Amino acid sequence: MSLALYDTWSRALRPFTALQPSHVGLYCCGPTVYDHAHIGNLRTYVFEDVLRRVLALNGYEVRHVVNITDVGHLVSDADEGEDKMEKGSRRTGASAWEIAERYTRAFMSDWQALNLLEPTVWCRATDHIAEQITFIAELERNGYTYQTNDGVYFDTSRQDDYGYLARLDHAGLQAGKRVAVGEKRRATDFALWKFSPPDSTRQMEWDSPWGRGFPGWHIECSAMSAKYLSPWFDIHCGGEDHIAVHHSNEIAQTQACHGTRLANFWMHGHFLTLDAAKMSKSDGDFLRLQSLTERGIDPLAYRYLCLSAHYRSKLRFNHEALDAAQAALDRLRKAYASWPAGGTVDAGFVARFNAEVNQDLNLPRALAVVWEVVRSDLPVETRRATVDAFEPVLGLRLADWHAEAFEIPADVAALAQQRERARAAKDWAESDRLRETLKAAGWQVEDGVGGQRLSPLAGTGIQERS
Ligand code: AMP
Ligand code: ZN
Repeated sequence: MSLALYDTWSRALRPFTALQPSHVGLYCCGPTVYDHAHIGNLRTYVFEDVLRRVLALNGYEVRHVVNITDVGHLVSDADEGEDKMEKGSRRTGASAWEIAERYTRAFMSDWQALNLLEPTVWCRATDHIAEQITFIAELERNGYTYQTNDGVYFDTSRQDDYGYLARLDHAGLQAGKRVAVGEKRRATDFALWKFSPPDSTRQMEWDSPWGRGFPGWHIECSAMSAKYLSPWFDIHCGGEDHIAVHHSNEIAQTQACHGTRLANFWMHGHFLTLDAAKMSKSDGDFLRLQSLTERGIDPLAYRYLCLSAHYRSKLRFNHEALDAAQAALDRLRKAYASWPAGGTVDAGFVARFNAEVNQDLNLPRALAVVWEVVRSDLPVETRRATVDAFEPVLGLRLADWHAEAFEIPADVAALAQQRERARAAKDWAESDRLRETLKAAGWQVEDGVGGQRLSPLAGTGIQERS
């Protein structure tokens, strides 16, 4: 089998070979935890999960590192404005530390609901302040920094190839000069360390050789990827918005400190967009996974929707498409559940499926192969065994699904989904409260291995499906 991946650095499909035999280092920029993740953010994590699963299919052992940005990401990418964490704190009345904890937990619960594989390492920016200070000190020693009244900045004029990942047009940037530079010497320079305001105390601040303050947003990823992988590793991922600023700056820092451009492959997931508007976490105007489950949609139906579009194409979200994904997943589950185990795989179909996923993760075409198997005239045991061979990449938990014996109304299903999320987040009080709400609606819940099972309470008159 040969795997080809699209590399943003070279703007081309490249055959993938690992830097060390059989091992892959994969770093994925994680969430900024000042609010819930929106379904656009989650699309990017589904793409990265599929990448990881396809690497495993090719026999690689993947060391997968995901960071949690809990400090330093300012409202504007141009190093201006408030820290998103402090803004979140003002919005909710809870401390920046409390909201970091709250939204990290919520994020992990979405992560589980989407059946994303657990990373090898989760790392928080605030747990790695010392590493970031050491990194900045090295940049200073190498002559890449300058200090102003409000912080320590990276001097991008020191690198001729600054912004190559984004094919940045330096001449255009200079001529336009429309970007607010504040204390910086030029628009592309960026903060490594920002000072706390002289007249107030920030909720999150640390001492440093330059003064009390907090790290800029980009330094955490350079410092933590070097610590948990190395300064030169296999694949770095994120959403397409990261190409121009965040990833260009990560590369600039690592090049100035370690002389590498961080990763051999750079991969970017394209955006999920809403029909009418751009979804924005900072506007507070967005859809969460929970907004979908409240409508009775299974989180794995959202995963299915993500698989049905190539990660390098925009996905326009609408509820009709989501309902269609739910219907397709239901059909697949029912077909699968009706097939007995004990068959052997159809090697031809498996080879075709693997060839599709190995061609830059072409999941839409791979799903078409799945449906060919479903509709084929292969013996049903063979169909099951063959789909089982696809499941490690699809991650749709087909074998865990069991047909409900009763017709579950959408509002009851939505309550049950909420309870599943509460359980995933270990929020037992909320899970008990929802059990009572379900009971009042006439349904009892049992918790089993494959998730919870609903059945009507005696006396409700609900009939079992025939
Ligand atoms: P953030 O929490 O804003 O730091 O973003 C977390 C991840 O979601 C990053 O990899 C972003 O590039 C990605 N992202 C942000 N908005 C979208 C969107 N609308 N569609 C897909 N990915 C997104
Ligand atoms: Zn990053």
